[in-house]
Amino acid sequence: TVRTRFAPSPTGYLHIGGARTALFSWAYARKHGGTFILRIEDTDVERSTPEAVHAILDGMSWLKLNYDEGPFYQMQRMPRYKEVIQQMLATGQAYYCYTTPAELDAMREAQRARGEKPRYDGVWRPEPGKTLPPVPADAKPVVRFKNPTEGVVAWKDLVKGHIEFSNSELDDLIIARSDGTPTYNFCVVVDDWDMGITQVIRGDDHVNNTPRQINILKALGAKVPQYAHLSMILGDDGTKLSKRHGAVSVMQYDEDGYLPEAVINYLARLGWSHGDDEVFSVEQFCSWFDLDHITPSAAQFNTEKLNWLNNHYLKQTDNGKLADLVRPRLEARGIKIGATPDLAAIAGLYKERVATLNELADAAEVFYIDLHPDAALLDAQLSAEAIPALRDLSQLFATVAWETAAISATIKEVIARHGMKMPKLAMPLRVMLTGQTQTPSVDALVTLFPREMVLARIEKNLA
Ligand code: GLU
Repeated sequence: TVRTRFAPSPTGYLHIGGARTALFSWAYARKHGGTFILRIEDTDVERSTPEAVHAILDGMSWLKLNYDEGPFYQMQRMPRYKEVIQQMLATGQAYYCYTTPAELDAMREAQRARGEKPRYDGVWRPEPGKTLPPVPADAKPVVRFKNPTEGVVAWKDLVKGHIEFSNSELDDLIIARSDGTPTYNFCVVVDDWDMGITQVIRGDDHVNNTPRQINILKALGAKVPQYAHLSMILGDDGTKLSKRHGAVSVMQYDEDGYLPEAVINYLARLGWSHGDDEVFSVEQFCSWFDLDHITPSAAQFNTEKLNWLNNHYLKQTDNGKLADLVRPRLEARGIKIGATPDLAAIAGLYKERVATLNELADAAEVFYIDLHPDAALLDAQLSAEAIPALRDLSQLFATVAWETAAISATIKEVIARHGMKMPKLAMPLRVMLTGQTQTPSVDALVTLFPREMVLARIEKNLA
């Protein structure tokens, strides 16, 4: 049965690339009725922080990527790694190496001078019939893995196809430092083994680690999982996605007003495709997902497409729910939201035209604040003929039934009476009510406000 994992290093927030890796590992497990495991690779104590762990867990839960096992923390598994190192020393699959860092430097220097690729020369590697140098008195050895010297390590990568490395290119990897702590590649191996991982789905920055990990797994007699290395994600401009491209943290998308459904849908299509399908639910994605349709080439991030998807999901969202999502954003701006104007109705009218919840909040904000439209903007829209027409309108509005049909009829009556075109009346009215010229149809807009507010906003701007 399928067991996949997401194994982030908690050295920063959950970024878009990590989230996509998590999504693919999660979806693969879901598709096959398997188990998805979260493992926090926190052995880099200098760079790992509890804040980053929280940021990753928050990001996962915002995206609803639930895990069946974990989170496991590598720092809590130290005794296990040390146990396996002892076993490997005992069986001769690993050995103590007393070469000092200074000696290693000198060794590499000399190799480079001879035009060779720098590598550990294997002085301390035990071989039948070989006599090792005498162990230095107060030396603190590292432990090295006895990598095969011949043949190749090959695997059929589920994304990239056949990959092989010649063993002669791999030197004997340090699996424990001189202070006894296990190294990165070794912890990954022991974990993937102990956790029974069947498919390792991760970024292709790990391709070079894979042959080393496979060799150690084989030495341990572990079943080697399948590997799927995902290509990196490029920014809008074609360079590697980084902070320069703005929001790369998943939670930044939350802050910017994207819906998790939209982000998931977007990430799903980032390097994976299902025919021409662009819009699909996460359930649909899980049933379609496979590793065969992942492109081996880099995927390019496209903010416009994400915005388009987010707009799609906003439109699908029920108005009351949208109001609940937008209200805290407005309150965070210090704006009090009462029963009127009705935020759900505002959201319903504006959701067609916005890309994010923040844009929706921007549109809604003007309904609740003491609005002072830009004088130049109003001037540009307010013609001499509009002033008496707006006075008339205001008078009729004072008594008309407060619903769209009647409001619409009143507006038409006024423009007929004054022999003017609709925009001549509608544009200044829009600016008076919202401070903007771009709004939904003016009768629907007026209806969103309580009568007194409309009268007050017209009055104030005519004065
Ligand atoms: N901890 C690694 C990273 O964050 C992932 C290792 C793996 O998936 O094997 O890049």
